[in-house]
Amino acid sequence: MPNKTPTCYSIVVLNVPPQWDVYQLENDFKMQHSTVVKVERLFINGGKPISKVRVDFSDSREVTGILKQKKILLDENSTAYPVELYIPPMRVLRCYNCQKYNDHIAANCPDLDNPVCFKCGQSHPFSPKCTNQICCAHCQGPHMSGSPQCPVKAAERKKCNDETKKKNNNNTNVRAQQQFGTNPWTNHSNNVLYGQSQATTTNSFIEKLHDAMPTIIVQQKELDAKKENKFSTLAQEFDEYFMPHCTPDSMMSLQR
Ligand SMILES: [Zn+2]
Ligand SMILES: [Zn+2]
Ligand SMILES: [Zn+2]
Repeated sequence: MPNKTPTCYSIVVLNVPPQWDVYQLENDFKMQHSTVVKVERLFINGGKPISKVRVDFSDSREVTGILKQKKILLDENSTAYPVELYIPPMRVLRCYNCQKYNDHIAANCPDLDNPVCFKCGQSHPFSPKCTNQICCAHCQGPHMSGSPQCPVKAAERKKCNDETKKKNNNNTNVRAQQQFGTNPWTNHSNNVLYGQSQATTTNSFIEKLHDAMPTIIVQQKELDAKKENKFSTLAQEFDEYFMPHCTPDSMMSLQR
């Protein structure tokens, strides 16, 4: 179920035993903190609950206070738990022309004349009719480029997460986090996408998205035309690409 609370008002509470009931926890937190909206258990890859919960607030001031104290009160007996800033999971972007990760989108591909097939990893343009053996362009494994099974993709995701974590490590300023939260891509992602060192404003961001749309629409049409399950990975990537990270699924709340 999508969570409509902006992630800018979210924190992660640590050392919360996995067997504890989150509904009870939510009630307890609400008793102590009037702007708590929701408490959600976090899971690791594979669905195992861990000793962390995400707590969403409707008011940034309460979050700021809690982050400054580095702990949150659970009950009147002064039981406090350590907290950290909630960092939304990073999306790994992939150029649909050359298959490169986290560098640019197909509309800005520097290798337009040198396309790589996402099915077989060989040098030919995108074609659903490709009958070559499936081979990942990144790791030469038996999956298509961009597959969740790809270890290169997993490493890219970890790199993104680590960079974001480092950036936010000493930052308990919720206003900064709000800016982070309102932009569907981090400044870093804008930089790697568009090769700019300055932060991209929302307007120019929309312009660039607009410029990229014809290519994206063509790609999407090609996908729609071929309703083969084989291409669901690409479609999923497309969704990931545009899904704002303020509606994360708690299953993905930590590194995948
Ligand atoms: Zn490219
Ligand atoms: Zn091919
Ligand atoms: Zn691979």
